[in-house]
Amino acid sequence: MQYVSTRGQAPAQSFSEILLGGLAPDGGLYLPVEYPRVSGAELDAWRGLSYAGLAFEVLKKFATDIPEADLRELARKTYTAEVYRNARAGEDAAQITPLRVLEDGDGGKLVLQALSNGPTLAFKDMAMQLLGNLFEYALARQNAQLNIFGATSGDTGSAAEYAMRGKKGIRVFMLSPYRKMSAFQTAQMFSLQDPNIFNIAVQGVFDDCQDMVKAVSNDLAFKARHKIGTVNSINWARVVAQVVYYFRGYLAATASNDQKVSFTVPSGNFGNICAGHIARMMGLPIDQLVVATNENDVLDEFFRTGVYRVRKSAETYHTTSPSMDISKASNFERFVYDLIGRDAKRLSALFRKVETEGGFDLSGEPGSDGDEFRKVAEYGFVSGKSVHADRIATIRDVHQRYGVTIDTHTADGVKVAREHIKPGVPMLVLETALPAKFNETIREALGRDAERPAGFENIEALPQRFEVMNADVEKMKAYIASHTGL
Ligand SMILES: *Cc1c(COP(=O)(O)O)cnc(C)c1O
Repeated sequence: MQYVSTRGQAPAQSFSEILLGGLAPDGGLYLPVEYPRVSGAELDAWRGLSYAGLAFEVLKKFATDIPEADLRELARKTYTAEVYRNARAGEDAAQITPLRVLEDGDGGKLVLQALSNGPTLAFKDMAMQLLGNLFEYALARQNAQLNIFGATSGDTGSAAEYAMRGKKGIRVFMLSPYRKMSAFQTAQMFSLQDPNIFNIAVQGVFDDCQDMVKAVSNDLAFKARHKIGTVNSINWARVVAQVVYYFRGYLAATASNDQKVSFTVPSGNFGNICAGHIARMMGLPIDQLVVATNENDVLDEFFRTGVYRVRKSAETYHTTSPSMDISKASNFERFVYDLIGRDAKRLSALFRKVETEGGFDLSGEPGSDGDEFRKVAEYGFVSGKSVHADRIATIRDVHQRYGVTIDTHTADGVKVAREHIKPGVPMLVLETALPAKFNETIREALGRDAERPAGFENIEALPQRFEVMNADVEKMKAYIASHTGL
């Protein structure tokens, strides 16, 4: 399987060649030359598999240059009940992404698929845990090392650190805004004592951290010398790892392949739901893919109107579902590429227009860029938006009716799912975090604390290991250099 760039100006590469990288050299995103198809017979054969077994079957269609025995072992080691141990009462940890039926009545069937039972209690573990093992494996084969450098406002940084801790050949340098994350998120990251994890608390806000990452990444000589890499959401292996749980959710919710299901996905960078799109393109019988956004509704606007208009940082709201506070969805380009018939030239023109004019319009009005918006329905996409008051009401309602506490992002999902649910088509809402991570809002909704999984009871009291630094790029470089020894 070869991978091509959405912008069409980069050479085709293998899975292993794009594994450790980010953007393609032409500024595009990698996609397979064509999507592998899964037949009905194959899908049936997958019904009896464990999660790890299923992950192997899906991965081997994409990672064709990794020996199958190695891939099977990587999947086996990643998807264990021990790693995904934060399953709640009534869930079986061995299922890895257990389903919970909330409602099965005349109005339709509403189901939660738990993706947040991993070490950091958010769905990013589903892909990042595999990435940690894949990176370690690939680096050992090349006798190489990698220094991951990134910035986080919460979930991504901790998922990366928990995936890479103790891994041979890998160090993580993670910037976060000093005293701006929740106490729980801070404790999760800073309590790690592994010598290959470096937490740097920057005197500033998240944008200052991100600017430092950009400045260091733009110094190509430094980047090459110190083997600097990233693990952001455009990484192709992350997307592929996420494809697996769409198959898993489908197989667990159905008895035969005649049945269709829909998925609702709380969305920010479009990484999660992009994996759903790929699963559907592979032939998984998905009816609708429902994009749920919060107040930051760039994606909802596109899927309602065909107009893609990115927001400036100043127009990006800080909400109570913070992991969806995104005004420019980095994986969206992958879907647009398919939507416009994989025309790389036109894709490049559209995204150049995003840079120069702040967006594009595919709604087919006079003077617009095209009319492909009418095809969105063929791809199953619909959308909706949820705001703070909706989250609070939904958390209360789900707790009252079904006795389940959901987190704020999942609440956005449930709110929007209810607007699209149809009788006869189970609606699976992807649960993207556990409520303990966003306790302040749970208190506001329910007047009490969210329950904490075992082992997290006193996390804030654990000793913390971190460095405080000014937003000073030269100092940052010196710090990295002194720890890589390169
Ligand atoms: C990252 C994240 C999201 C958004 O996922 P995308 O892949 O960026 O669309 C939603 N919920 C939670 C809890 C997250 O951590």
